Amino acid sequence: MNILVIVEQREGKFNRVSWETLTGAQAIAAETGWTLEAAVVGSGVGEIAREVAGKKVAKVYDLESPKLAQYTPDAFVAALQPFLAEKKPRLVLMPHTYQVRDFAPKLATALGRALISDVIGCRKQGERLLFTRQMFQGKFAADVSFAGDPPHFVTFQTGAFRGDQVEAGASAAPVETVNAEIPDSALRNRPGEVFKEAKQAVDLTQAEIIVAVGRGIKEEKNIVLAKQLAEALGGEIAASRPICDSGWLPMDRQIGSSGQTVAPKLYIALGISGAIQHIVGMKGSRAVVAVNKDADAPIFEVADIGVVGNLFDVVPPLIEEIKKAKAGA
Ligand SMILES: Cc1cc2nc3c(=O)[nH]c(=O)nc-3n(C[C@H](O)[C@H](O)[C@H](O)COP(=O)(O)OP(=O)(O)OC[C@H]3O[C@@H](n4cnc5c(N)ncnc54)[C@H](O)[C@@H]3O)c2cc1C
Repeated sequence: MNILVIVEQREGKFNRVSWETLTGAQAIAAETGWTLEAAVVGSGVGEIAREVAGKKVAKVYDLESPKLAQYTPDAFVAALQPFLAEKKPRLVLMPHTYQVRDFAPKLATALGRALISDVIGCRKQGERLLFTRQMFQGKFAADVSFAGDPPHFVTFQTGAFRGDQVEAGASAAPVETVNAEIPDSALRNRPGEVFKEAKQAVDLTQAEIIVAVGRGIKEEKNIVLAKQLAEALGGEIAASRPICDSGWLPMDRQIGSSGQTVAPKLYIALGISGAIQHIVGMKGSRAVVAVNKDADAPIFEVADIGVVGNLFDVVPPLIEEIKKAKAGA
């Protein structure tokens, strides 16, 4: 085995972002010629293992234990550490989810190995694999490679690869059930009830026009400007995460990997830098207009129309022009 993808499930529910990781892994396997295998970790998750076995992989491991029924980092590491020590994959790939971020550093450390997180791309240079990750809020992208012995751990950021492009296998791959031995002494925490998110009050996925505001808006009182633009266009107001974290707009207005994923006809981004976690939530928009005073802001990479300028200069006349155009129509 050379590449192992650990697909994600929680309480028996498959996390579809795992398909993105598998797509990335298939690309690496095609480039390197390495064998690609997958593993699912849990209790009674054979169905998920069989679903994954339908994709282009050589084999799927179903790592089972009743102690894995509820997710805990201790149980996951106790199950995976001896498994990886025995299978010796070169590369262990996982989606960059909250669950993976919880256990992956512990797992890599337990094996004395390195982890490159938040990866958005991968390419081969000579004999080395280079993994691209964003730094400083997306201002720079760095190519990082591993030093030291494998297994090397990598987590792929949401949206880095297309889950719908995962290749199916010519026939179903074999599934091997592995009974994980997890000593009681390894388990130090007992999970309480899973926190359930409140039902979303606004469904931005249905909006045709969205005006999204980021930290460039500076102060809470300025949000009204973006609201006026949204109103003039008959659209919805939305925001990047820091705006919702500050309580300037409700959480259900947040766009991105930990917010809503939207695909309106028009997405106007005001003072949003374009961090990957934001981009994944809006890149399906049909037309993107970005206003940012930094010409190098990553949001311009996904913008159809980019306005390099101060949003406080750009937005008020824009509202006036829209009002005039509407009045004339
Ligand atoms: C696990 C995780 C999940 C995350 N989930 C999300 C998510 O779901 N959604 C999300 O949005 N973020 C998310 N983030 C945060 C993300 O990484 C960024 O920090 C965030 O998107 C940045 O928000 P911003 O673009 O508003 O702010 P900044 O990055 O601070 O950018 C502000 C931008 O405004 C521009 N600007 C400043 N003043 C003006 C002006 N007067 N006129 C025009 N432009 C101006 C600046 O040039 C800059 O580009 C997540 C992060 C993590 C670690």
